[in-house]
Amino acid sequence: MTTQATPEPLAPLERSLFEKSSPGHRGLSLPATGVPEQPLDQLLPPELQRKESAKLPELAQLDIIRHFVRLSKLNHSIDDDFYPLGSCTMKYNPKVCDYYGMLDGLTQLHPRTPDHLSQGTLEIIYTLQQYLADITGFHQVSLQPAAGAQGELVGMMMIKAHFKKIGETQRTEVIIPDSAHGTNPASAAMCGFKVLELKSAENGLVDVVGLKTLLSEKTAAVMLTNPSTLGLFERDILEITQTVHDAGGLLYYDGANLNAVMGQAKPADMGFDVMHINTHKTFATPHGGGGPGCGPVATTPLLAPYLPSPIVAFDNGQYTLHNNRPDSIGRVKTFNGNFEMMARAFTYISAYGAKGLAQVTQDAVLNANYIRKQLEATYEIPYDQVCKHEFVMNSHRQKKYDERLNTMAIAKRLMDYGIHPMTVYFPLIAHEAMMVEPTETESKETLDRFIDVMRQIDAECRNSPELILNAPHTTPVQKVDEVSAARNPDLNFYCCPI
Ligand SMILES: *Cc1c(COP(=O)(O)O)cnc(C)c1O
Repeated sequence: MTTQATPEPLAPLERSLFEKSSPGHRGLSLPATGVPEQPLDQLLPPELQRKESAKLPELAQLDIIRHFVRLSKLNHSIDDDFYPLGSCTMKYNPKVCDYYGMLDGLTQLHPRTPDHLSQGTLEIIYTLQQYLADITGFHQVSLQPAAGAQGELVGMMMIKAHFKKIGETQRTEVIIPDSAHGTNPASAAMCGFKVLELKSAENGLVDVVGLKTLLSEKTAAVMLTNPSTLGLFERDILEITQTVHDAGGLLYYDGANLNAVMGQAKPADMGFDVMHINTHKTFATPHGGGGPGCGPVATTPLLAPYLPSPIVAFDNGQYTLHNNRPDSIGRVKTFNGNFEMMARAFTYISAYGAKGLAQVTQDAVLNANYIRKQLEATYEIPYDQVCKHEFVMNSHRQKKYDERLNTMAIAKRLMDYGIHPMTVYFPLIAHEAMMVEPTETESKETLDRFIDVMRQIDAECRNSPELILNAPHTTPVQKVDEVSAARNPDLNFYCCPI
């Protein structure tokens, strides 16, 4: 593998469409309509009429296409190269899922079509509810939430509604480990709960003794991620869930990373009461683009009455939307939710089948452990034990070569090799964390290339630290000023206000 000195940046900063605009250019020309024009005053009252025309960029179609295609190439995507972003499951999504998800018969259905004319769509929703109930071991599922975080909020609202119903309103606290995803405390707090942080044990797992000291008659719930965000499976999970139930609390399972356990273990069997699933990580919708998601919630008979309404049911040979559920927390998303994500997840699960999903998990876990073993001689792995779908290493050894070296510098250097950086500085309990999740969809050749690159970067840290400190060298933008970007974001660069 060769390393460049400091090559020129690839391309000058992309100009916005407005800067490229030139008067008189048009994307397309429409024929005259043949409809007689009406005077504007008859169509709109004067105060609603524009005084001057909208300032839109004027470009030919080809220039617009080139603009957006060029921009799309500045992005890294799973279709470009390896994307080991831990906790995000950036895996390849089979194109067949997109194909079926985008069938005209599904995407063109009017959202107000009556149930008896949308049986196909309702059947997909119903069957996916059943599939997810099967995979998680739970009794009933709602597909409404539009993201994992919204699923968490729904779960917390259901727990709150339950304690209100049974008159235990003194249960105002939710216990969350310090290794949890930041959305967990946010969701509990948004629901009005007081969040108690549970410090993890030395080995990164839940500290059962510490948990017992936090439990009380005020405990509403404990939110857990299993395997945790360190990629470690909670060995004492049955004792943990039993202890919380004995104290009268409920257990929420953060199931965002289900391809660590699906087909192998069911959260309901572990003793949990309610969970969310990220279909946009595990089941065929790319995660991380900020696009639409789908974070279904699954639960036990105890909490099922509180699930959002409507739920799709199957009565007398007909699929119907059940609205009459008096204890439901209500609707959390318009119409059927993000249905296209559901159609993709349905396709993915149908294509793989139960055996295939179990294999997905085995391969995801095998790949993570393969990389972990191959890199343990080079990078420090703070919780070095068999992991599930991901593991965490750090840059402490590299810092010994030169104290300016850190995880951020290593992550930036990875970009020069065409690989998306792993998740960095998360989870917060792991100092200088580099969290690697290869997923099951990568070949052994790709994993070996990543391992080689990581060893090469270690050698560079030792022999030419400046190369690392000045990275990335091959991207159109080098180092960004992250503090200013967060404090004074310029969100108008690519889309000027009209
Ligand atoms: C991704 C993730 C979430 C949040 O899911 P969103 O769909 O991004 O809201 C929650 N918990 C964990 C562990 C995650 O990895």
